[in-house]
Amino acid sequence: MIHLQEHQEENGLLWLSAYELNSGGAVHGFSTRLGGVSHGCLASLNLGTGRGDDIENVRENFRRFGVAVGFDSKKTVFSKQVHRDDIRMVTAKDCGKGLYREREYEADGLITDVPGVTLAVFSADCIPILLHDPIRHVVAGCHAGWRGTVMDIVGKTVRTMVRQYGCRAENICGAIGPGISRCCFETHADVPEALEAVLGSRAKGLIDRLPDGKFLVDLKGANALWLQDAGVPMHQIEISDACTFCRQDLFWSHRHTGNARGIMSAVIQLI
Ligand SMILES: [Zn+2]
Repeated sequence: MIHLQEHQEENGLLWLSAYELNSGGAVHGFSTRLGGVSHGCLASLNLGTGRGDDIENVRENFRRFGVAVGFDSKKTVFSKQVHRDDIRMVTAKDCGKGLYREREYEADGLITDVPGVTLAVFSADCIPILLHDPIRHVVAGCHAGWRGTVMDIVGKTVRTMVRQYGCRAENICGAIGPGISRCCFETHADVPEALEAVLGSRAKGLIDRLPDGKFLVDLKGANALWLQDAGVPMHQIEISDACTFCRQDLFWSHRHTGNARGIMSAVIQLI
């Protein structure tokens, strides 16, 4: 676990970046809730179009995030997250889908090899994961809640990068971003049982049993395990120590506020 690099802009916008993805060839960032124009429970950097916000606020927030990180918000391509493992291979034709146009697809994972196209995934407790192959010049973004984690969406994304884009897994660098962490992701037996069904005895190291019969589960650790299984070297995987539930001053947490909240985005773009 590592503390991601923090970047504070003059307008107050705060965003995070991973050292592992800063090797050149791509720009990326994880947003916080700070530095936007939205109001109320969406204050202030809400980046979701499905949160009841004025679309012009969301566009302005994305524009600001883009200026800070170094991407053109008009060329973003949004995931459409349904807690499954469908992965979309994104091309320039998709630019604007989500923020300026309808999305005709459902996808919790996005991949592209087109420079200038910005992939955007969304989370407010779930785990955002960004990937970059600096040799074949391919980037990807995933949204992994506990269901997507059990379905190994991140491993499927790596294998799609290998199969469809000619990447080698050992060249891929990954960042597992801010999300609800082991300290706060309290569950009933369904989550640990589902993880044990797919990870076997290896799931034990990701689960704490509480005295009241509930559990604490490490979704970030599970996704790191899947990345290694897919062939990504551990030393190229960076795991954010930021817990969205612990740090409500910086992040929205669905666990904490339910639906009265905005949403953060993790973005990556080849340059
Ligand atoms: Zn926590």
